[in-house]
Parts: sequence; structure tokens; C-alpha cells
Amino acid sequence: MPGPILGYSSAMDADDSLEALHGVYQRWPKIDLHRHLPGAIPFDTWWRIVREKGVTLPSDDPAELRRRMSISGKHDLKTFLKCFDLVDLVYVDAETIEQLTYEVIADAARDGLIYLELRYSPTRMAASAGISTAAALEATIAGRDRALAGHDITVELIAGLSREMGVERCTAEAKVIAGYAGRGIAGIDLLGNEIDYPASWYAPIFRPLAEEGILGITIHAGESSSAQSVADAILELGATRIGHGVRAEEDPAVLALVRERGVTLEMCPTSNVQTQATADYDTHPLPRYHRDGIRVTINSDDPSISQIDLAHEYATATALMGMSPAEVQATLYTAVEAAFTAEETKERLRAHLDQFFATETA
Ligand SMILES: [Zn+2]
Repeated sequence: MPGPILGYSSAMDADDSLEALHGVYQRWPKIDLHRHLPGAIPFDTWWRIVREKGVTLPSDDPAELRRRMSISGKHDLKTFLKCFDLVDLVYVDAETIEQLTYEVIADAARDGLIYLELRYSPTRMAASAGISTAAALEATIAGRDRALAGHDITVELIAGLSREMGVERCTAEAKVIAGYAGRGIAGIDLLGNEIDYPASWYAPIFRPLAEEGILGITIHAGESSSAQSVADAILELGATRIGHGVRAEEDPAVLALVRERGVTLEMCPTSNVQTQATADYDTHPLPRYHRDGIRVTINSDDPSISQIDLAHEYATATALMGMSPAEVQATLYTAVEAAFTAEETKERLRAHLDQFFATETA
């Protein structure tokens, strides 16, 4: 295992340590498997585009709009999700969707991410822009491809189904998404309100996709809903990855299932505290799971809404959750393993990490 990280001292108090570690982790190559495109649009970018496009807004005051699109304290998941109603107004046409995809990826590359999986509901974007779901998917793929040409980052796209659309609509939308498997879309997700729309309702959509194996399957579960939702996502929907999974530990049998199946949990510390999936950072199960042989990764979820970046989440894991830098480093290799991307891409990412950690650590 690597030695101590330069600039890091375990004797620092939490705030000093958080700031110092943020600086350290900013220099690390980083991987994010769980980032929502709408939640990652920098406010200034959003503001510039809504002004350019003449979007009608509920307020003309940028400070007020920024406040309504960000979370700093603790809220329930529904309040958190409400921020997106305002964010989504920015999608006025296909060109805007393409441009925002480009800008979110450029922003991630500037933050030192070497690999990013970006997820979004193409249906929501399409509804806002007044275009078809296929056109929205094509706009995101075009934005991704343009961004990749000019930045040192690899990006895969995950199309999500919003639970609130209902099973029938989700079934139709899943068919459109599946048509882009291998043509720009790498995975599929189930998004939105977990409590009123349980994952098990959507099993008839996901099960055939899991059997076909054409898209990676990750399901939001165990965030506001119980451990059982995690078991349902794995057993009924065929998920190999779970978005969050914080509450899996409420049932030891579910935790055992996650471990035995090698399911990867995409955990997002700040978002998980903000939505009260866990009471606070020191109750978050990330370090426990990691030490218990569960495959965990550290992700940002909605960095602009939560007002964080990925380096902040790595720093939080160390300063406030007690994970050593070596343990954070291990989660990066877990993320490579679990990525919805080609094996040669994984080998390249591992080589990038190996090379960085060979020189960064003593
Ligand atoms: Zn999420």
C-alpha cells in the first residue's frame, strides 16, 4: 500500500484538514461514476444560457435563483429533487443540450477527472426543449463527443428513467434508450422519487435489459427508501451497481447480498447527508462498508446543487469520515472495475492511476 500523502497530517483538526486535503485531492486523478448532468451545470453557465435564450424565469434576481437551485443544509429527497424543476428550464432546444453536455464535461476535466459517467433523464430534457427523446439523446452524445476531442477525460453516458413518468411511459422510453446501446449510451438508471415509486414496479423494464447485457444497469436505491429497495434493484432489476445504497446496512441479509454479488455502491457523501440518507458524515457507512469488503466508490451526485466538487468529497471521506488516503485511493480502482466502459479503457485508466500513485506517494 502507498505511504503517507504529502500535505496531509492526521494531527490536523477537521476544518484545517478538510481544506488541506481538498488541495491534495485536487491534484489527484479522479473518477466519478455518479454525477447528474443537470446537477453539475455551473450556475454561471446556467445563468448565461437562460439569458441568451430569453427563458422566462420565476425571478430576475440571479442570487435568488442560485439560492433556489442549491442546497446547503439538510432536506428530504423530494426537496432536493425540486431544485431540478428550475434547472431544467435551461433546456430550450437541442443545441442547448449539446452545449451544456460539453460544458459540464469541460468543467469535470478542469477538476482533474480522468473518467466520468454522466447521467440524465433524456425524457425530461426532451420535454423541456420540445424535442423527441431520441433527439435529446443525440444532442448529449454530440456534446460528449465534441468535449472529448478537446479534453483529457473519458466520458460514458447513462440515460435515466424518471420513476414519476410511470411504468408504461418508462417502458416506451427504455426502448428508445436501448436503441442507443453501443451507439453512445453505456448504461441505464432509474431516477427520482424512490418512496412513492418503488424500484420493483420497474422490474419488467430492466430485467430483459439485464438479460440482454447491452447496457450497464445502475439503480438509485437505499437512499430515501429501505434496504429492501437495494435487494429489489439487484434481484428483480438486475443492477450490478446501486446509486447510494446507504441504507443497505439496515438489513444484514441485504448487505451480505451486496457483498456476495460484488455489487458496487456509488456513494455520494455530501448529497447523502443533505438528503438525510444518513444523519451526518460520521454516521455514513462508506468506511464501514469499505472495510467490510463491500465495493464502494466516492462520487459527487449533483456538485452544483450541493456546492461541492469531487475533491471535496474525497477530502470529506478522509477528514470527516476517517478514511485514509490509501483507502480513498483503493476506491478509485474499484470505480475502474465497476465502470460501464470497454476493458481497454479500464486498462488505460489503471495505468494512469498506477503512474500517478507511483510518484505521488512516498
Ligand atoms: Zn443520484
